[in-house]
Amino acid sequence: MSDIQLLPSVQRFLDNTPGSFVDGRYVSESNAEQIDVVDPSTASVLTRVAQASEALVDEAVAAAKKAFHGTWANTSPYLRGVALNRLADLIEANAEELAQLESLSSGKSIHLTRQLEVPQSVVFLRYFAGWATKIHGQTMTPSLPSFQGEQYAAFTRREAVGVVAGITPWNFSLMIGIWKIASALTCGCTIVVKPSEFTPLSLLRIAELAVEAGVPTGALNIVNGRGDIGQQLINHKDVGKVSFTGSVPTGIAVGKAALNANLTRVTLELGGKNPAAFLADIDVDAAVEGILQTAYVHQGQVCAAPERLYIHRSKVDAICAKLAERLGTLKVGGAMDESAQFGPLANKAHYDKILAFLARANERQQVICGGQPVSRAGYFVQPTLIKAEGEHDPFLQEETFGPIVTVLPFDDEDELVRMMNDSPFGLGASVWTNDLSKAMRLVPRIEAGTVWINMHTFLDPAVPFGGVKSSGVGREFGSAFIDDYTELKSVMMRF
Ligand code: NDP
Repeated sequence: MSDIQLLPSVQRFLDNTPGSFVDGRYVSESNAEQIDVVDPSTASVLTRVAQASEALVDEAVAAAKKAFHGTWANTSPYLRGVALNRLADLIEANAEELAQLESLSSGKSIHLTRQLEVPQSVVFLRYFAGWATKIHGQTMTPSLPSFQGEQYAAFTRREAVGVVAGITPWNFSLMIGIWKIASALTCGCTIVVKPSEFTPLSLLRIAELAVEAGVPTGALNIVNGRGDIGQQLINHKDVGKVSFTGSVPTGIAVGKAALNANLTRVTLELGGKNPAAFLADIDVDAAVEGILQTAYVHQGQVCAAPERLYIHRSKVDAICAKLAERLGTLKVGGAMDESAQFGPLANKAHYDKILAFLARANERQQVICGGQPVSRAGYFVQPTLIKAEGEHDPFLQEETFGPIVTVLPFDDEDELVRMMNDSPFGLGASVWTNDLSKAMRLVPRIEAGTVWINMHTFLDPAVPFGGVKSSGVGREFGSAFIDDYTELKSVMMRF
């Protein structure tokens, strides 16, 4: 089947070679370095975006600071929520355009952007909008001595941290961008986002829609560029908080830079090497379906996706055989081909990294199925299943962030828990079984920010999300995010 027709508005957007979006408008700077935005389904250039200059990044932070102290500070919590809900309405009204922009540059299936990323961005946005009117402190009674009948009272206030620098990766740039934008704006902060250089398009369009929704100019700014632009934001004296999602090495550098800059608050949502455990009672077909739905979605480029499968020895052969058979039948195709079931990797650098992993797996004869690049234009590889050479195999340690899943059998639960926890990461983990009491006993023993039972990877705005160990610092969603975007001020009085 051929690719879907692009909307005229998408074509216009691409033809306009957008600059950064600062203080409510696109800014084109003469002599700006142009960054190619490449379509990973074809390896051809879709458009170019202008990298922001240092002066423009300063301008974006200044606009955000002005809005923080001015228009956004003067917008009541209720009206902040109204503006975010209007933005959600506009995302719904422009859903197909946003889906196309996101899929084109990320290589993510158009099904996934239409059915998950765009609608879920709306769900998250409305959830965060609801918090605007519910952020509050507490009252308390101090026990200080009273010599002449004086009394004391105290209360706390939650105050917005100021200008947030949001730095986002390329895998779900629209949705992860919305998480940061909505968290910041609902708490009364303003934000400058630096999207991944590979996928800036959908967030630029979101910034336009935010102005249309009534978010004051300057409250949301998008600056295009590579990691050095992220560094400039982190080092900026007027940035009060950094919210970063990306890889562990970059995250560690970001965390250190933020602390060095100004003891700047920082939230880090980093990578994982997430284990999924299939206990002895699991039905083979259900296990295979679950693995297909979670490990290979968006070609495995999902931070919480399972990359390590621990399968009870009694089921491992049957599950691997069936899984390999199903993976071999997936139709490979570009992001805009509605009939495709498996698409490209998101960019050339990542494709090269995945090819190196595959070469190693082939050399060591670990491949159960897949393991090869697909010979067509673009960045395609086969969905791959490999067997681990024992519990210390490097394939069980290194995040591939691709469609490479490693499997190892286990015999008993103590061994299972030890192997699941033998990782520097701790983002997510899952247990698949019909024996709920067994699963519930395993939950406290697993070192992960989220443990799923008979599911994996699903996120909901009401449920806090974040990593333990090297997978990050802080939590998004639920009410937990409020702690990260506000400072607690204590007020004490004598009367
Ligand atoms: P990177 O860490 O390479 O980049 C993330 C962002 O940081 C990009 O915008 C990047 O810009 C920017 N950046 C790069 N270097 C610096 C620097 N020195 N200072 C400031 N910013 C910098 O991650 P990827 O984009 O490759 O994303 C994949 C990773 O993200 C995986 O490890 C994955 O697990 C993780 N991830 C975690 C999630 C979570 O919620 N825990 C969710 C999604 C992904 P540019 O791309 O322009 O270089």
